[in-house]
Amino acid sequence: MKVDYLIVGSGLTGSTIARHLADNNREVMVIDRRPHGGGNVHDQLHPSGIRMHTYGPHYFRTNSDELWTYVNRFSSFYRFEARVKSWVDDAYEQWPVDEAYIRKSVGVPWKPGYEGVPRNFEEASLAMMPKAIYEKFVKGYSEKQWGVAASQLSADLAKRFDVRSDDDPRFSRHKYQGLPTDGYATWMANMLEGIPTTLNVDYLKNREAFQARRLLVFTGPIDEFFGFSLGKLQYRGQVRSHKYLPNVDYAQPWPQVNNPQLHNGPHIRTLEWKHMLQPQNAKQISGTLLTREETITPRSPDHYEYPFPDAENRALFKKYAQLAEQEPNTLICGRLGEYRYYDMDQAISRARMLAAKILQQ
Ligand SMILES: Cc1cc2nc3c(=O)[nH]c(=O)nc-3n(C[C@H](O)[C@H](O)[C@H](O)COP(=O)(O)OP(=O)(O)OC[C@H]3O[C@@H](n4cnc5c(N)ncnc54)[C@H](O)[C@@H]3O)c2cc1C
Repeated sequence: MKVDYLIVGSGLTGSTIARHLADNNREVMVIDRRPHGGGNVHDQLHPSGIRMHTYGPHYFRTNSDELWTYVNRFSSFYRFEARVKSWVDDAYEQWPVDEAYIRKSVGVPWKPGYEGVPRNFEEASLAMMPKAIYEKFVKGYSEKQWGVAASQLSADLAKRFDVRSDDDPRFSRHKYQGLPTDGYATWMANMLEGIPTTLNVDYLKNREAFQARRLLVFTGPIDEFFGFSLGKLQYRGQVRSHKYLPNVDYAQPWPQVNNPQLHNGPHIRTLEWKHMLQPQNAKQISGTLLTREETITPRSPDHYEYPFPDAENRALFKKYAQLAEQEPNTLICGRLGEYRYYDMDQAISRARMLAAKILQQ
């Protein structure tokens, strides 16, 4: 089968590029090896009626008016502002941690645990907070999440959180925050409406059967595309265990509770999905659904979630990126193709930029 633009992967990157090309009257086809579209942006209904996100909690947020208008083209969103707590010393504490908690715990004035230019994640975290706070909230969490000492991770990773100077409990301060009214799966299906899409097909095992006349856009793992010829890029993934409690209204007071202390078990967080429903829908549900996430090193590329944030993997990725540049009529992109964590709004913005470039070629 030949098509002008073959898009491998129906996640946000592939779907956004496909939509943009189709809107500009290009011949496009999407294939995905999973049995559903949308990549990691997917959800499902538990028999109780509770909607859960299949690949971990996805909170949509953006500051861009233009991007917000774009995503609302495919579904309306209801306002949802995530609140995240950490279970520390047998109490629910604010995450990211706030200065009031630091003052209460270590006294005033308090000093950060590191001064100077941070060389790694541990030093970058300590530059924000006292050592005692780092050890309670950050150290154990990051070691569970990445499976190595925090000092082995890149300092950049610490840019994903801060210390709050106010008592605003919202996890994120973005102007627009929400969840699609009919769920992520519907939102993604609407994005691909009218575009030929084939599921359950692994492109890498069917290269001859699916060919692009003008451009192949590959959004799967870049190392897998090249048969892991230079070695494997490292990822972390998660094992999720779900528990439905039929006789409990709510089991925890917040949608997401982090578990940073090692003595409280290996899981990194517990989600209670009912908190994420619109209040009028939540009222009609009996029972509640909890999901615990425990981080692992996945074997199958289909379970890759977080690219490993260290210099060695970055260097290996750069070698693969050089190979990709030499590949004729091929663009390798997206979170797996660029070996980079993108929030949903960032993935869409980048994909729209790439699609605009493709149209100019
Ligand atoms: C645990 C977790 C939580 C997250 N939470 C948030 C959040 O709260 N807010 C937020 O904004 N973002 C969040 N994200 C980020 C969000 O998931 C990404 O922005 C988004 O998934 C990127 O889309 P993508 O298309 O680049 O990749 P993907 O969604 O991974 O899509 C890639 C697709 O390619 C397909 N594919 C791969 N190889 C092949 C092949 N050989 N043949 C055919 N198909 C193939 C895969 O099956 C997949 O469907 C989270 C990510 C993770 C991992």
